[in-house]
Parts: sequence; structure tokens; C-alpha cells
Amino acid sequence: MDVSVSTRFEAQIEQAIQTAIGPREEFVALHEPTFDGNEWDYVKECIDTGWVSPVGSYVDQFEEQIADFTGTEQAVAVNNGTAALEVGLRLVGVEEGDEVLVPALTFVATANAVSYLGAVPHFVDSEWHTLGMDPERMGNYLDDIAEVRSGECYNTETGRRIRAIVPMHTFGHPVDLDSLEEVCDQYHLEIVEDAAESLGSLYKEEHTGRHGRCSALSFNGNKTITTGGGGAIITDDQDLADRARHLTKVAKEDHRWEYNHDTVGYNYRLPNINAALGCAQLEQLPSYLENKRILASRYSEAFSTVQDVTFFEEPDFGRSNYWLNAILLADDREDRRDDVLARLNDADLMTRPAWKPMHRLPMYRDCPRMEVSVAESIYRRLINIPSSVFLGEKTDVER
Ligand SMILES: *Cc1c(COP(=O)(O)O)cnc(C)c1O
Repeated sequence: MDVSVSTRFEAQIEQAIQTAIGPREEFVALHEPTFDGNEWDYVKECIDTGWVSPVGSYVDQFEEQIADFTGTEQAVAVNNGTAALEVGLRLVGVEEGDEVLVPALTFVATANAVSYLGAVPHFVDSEWHTLGMDPERMGNYLDDIAEVRSGECYNTETGRRIRAIVPMHTFGHPVDLDSLEEVCDQYHLEIVEDAAESLGSLYKEEHTGRHGRCSALSFNGNKTITTGGGGAIITDDQDLADRARHLTKVAKEDHRWEYNHDTVGYNYRLPNINAALGCAQLEQLPSYLENKRILASRYSEAFSTVQDVTFFEEPDFGRSNYWLNAILLADDREDRRDDVLARLNDADLMTRPAWKPMHRLPMYRDCPRMEVSVAESIYRRLINIPSSVFLGEKTDVER
């Protein structure tokens, strides 16, 4: 095979990306933030007034606006998405020695949050259609290995209680929540959604993060909006929100001067200066989401003529925020994944494979899991491509 033929596949993929994003002189990141709004004004105000710590009006404002946007009763701002997951899991009753069902294909934080509580992540496979947890196969698997005794679910193989499940919306694409919920009802499992990637994504008509008792959002630097670092617990359960606020403020009781702490709490609150950044970002979120859909449709068109490559599109029951765009290589092209990655990164187009599945990481190798062949295959075939909001801005012609 001559060289031009052997690299044509990689070249076509590079060309499709260039077509979709237009001419770019500089390095194109996978996802970089845009600060074109009131970020500077609000952050400067925090510094000018001295209100930089977690006590301050931007925190309250940010929480209200997040609750408004997602349609939940309460949002509790915390210092990152992982902390939101950890506290959420603890508040729905996950205890040391429990198992928690999490996707095999996820960012490591999902499994880490479970581990911080002394609980054990138990890995569930993905389905192709959402890239997220497969409700049907998970249900069949639980039929084999789980039983409900006095209202609680037990793993008959390990003897441990299975307390909760953490469905994750992969790259912003909504997972099949109703079907997962049916299985959870049958097995008495609490749902805590990892909605870290899905701000602005809808499941049916509702914002993602509304099926669980509570859910976690992330505002890390690479997410759809950012507070630098930050996260939130969203919930309709007022009592849970109150407990989350208390627990993340070192469990200190309100008092004019006394230091009364009623449990081992966390210092997990979001600082005001970060919340200020978040308030400015939230003002722009609707336009960000619009740009992201424009970029996704440009990718979809550009890849429609590339053989053996599929641009991943949202499932028909939902609306994705297209946080990270993704292409899937055909089965028999999976051995070219690293060549494609090398070519694109050499061309200053930052691209990444999907996360290594959790059971392949040394600390999670021995955790219980169902058969996870779809997660494995996604890992071998998927590539995330540049997805920053500004790449989807309308061109002069489109305006
Ligand atoms: C980003 C992310 C998190 C964690 O958020 P941080 O704010 O970085 O702690 C958790 N789960 C998933 C799936 C994520 O993508």
C-alpha cells in the first residue's frame, strides 16, 4: 500500500474537521472557555469590595439562577463537580461498604466520588444509542446477581448492599432515564445523576438532572460554562438541600460567635469570586448552546461524506448540549484510532480518545462489573473533536 493511500483516511478526517470549523491559524483546543460578557466586571467587584470567600451575594445569585435554569427547587454551589457527587451520594444514604452502580465509561470522578465514601463502584455497560448506561442489559444483569431483601437491594455474589446508581450523560447526550428509573424502582436504588457534562441538555422536555433525588453539575474550566472550578448539587428536596449546605460549610451551626459543628463536615463551598464568574457565564449560556448546535450540525454535514466515520448525534428522545463532539470509527478501523489522533494533534487540532473504561484502571480493576463490551468498543473507536463555543459562532454570511 503506498503512503498516500494508507494516510487518506486520516487526511479525510482532518479535512472534515477543517471544513466544519473554518480556517484557524492557532492551536485549536478541545474545549476552551469564552469570556466575552460581564466576567471581568463581576470578578473585579468581588475584589473591590473584598467579598471573595464563600460568603457573598454572587453565591446566592448563582444558586438561584442555576435552579431557575434547570427547573429545580434548589441548587447548592460547591467547589467542584466531584464534591457535588460525593455529597449527593452521602445524602441519599450511601455508606461505607455499599456498592454504587456507575458507568464503566465515564470520567474517573464518578467512580472516585463513590470511593471517597468507602463505597465500591460497580460498573455497568453503555448502549450505543446514548453512549450511557444500558437500562435493559443492566436490568437483566441485576435479575441474575441482585435480590431485594426487606426493601433493600443486595449483590448476591459479594453480599454487599447496592444502594444507588449514578447515570451519566456522556459528552452531554441524555441517557435513557425513564428506562433506568424502572429498573431502579424494581431494585430500590436511589438515583444520583452525574449531570456534570449536560448543563443545557434535555431529557424529553425536562432538563437533565431531574430524575435523581439530587444531581451533580460541574463548572470546571473545560465544561459548557465555567466558574474556574466549581459544581452544584441540584434537587427538589428542600431538606436535602439544607443538609448539603450545612455539610459543605464544615457542618457549623449558625451562631453569632460559637463554633458548634455537629458532624465531620466538608469545606466544599464555592467562593464568591468563582460564583461571580459563573453569573456572567450563565448570562451567555443560551447563546453558547445555540453555537454548540451550529457547530454540531456543521460537523454532521462535513462527516456525512467520510466513509467509515460517524458523527455521533443526540438520541431522539432528548436534546444534547453537544458539550464534546465525537466521531466513531467503523469497527474495522479501530486499529487506526491512534494514527488519527496523531495526525490531528500534529495538525494542532486537539483531539482525545474516550476515557479508558474504569475497570481498566489499577484501583478499580477488581470492582464488580457486568459484561462491558460496548464501553470497551466505544473506547477503541471514539474520538472527541474540538468543541469550544466560539468555533460555532455564526459567520458573516450566516448572520
Ligand atoms: C467533569 C466531570 C466530573 C467532575 O467535575 P469536576 O468539577 O471536574 O470535579 C464528574 N463527572 C463527569 C462525567 C465529568 O465530566
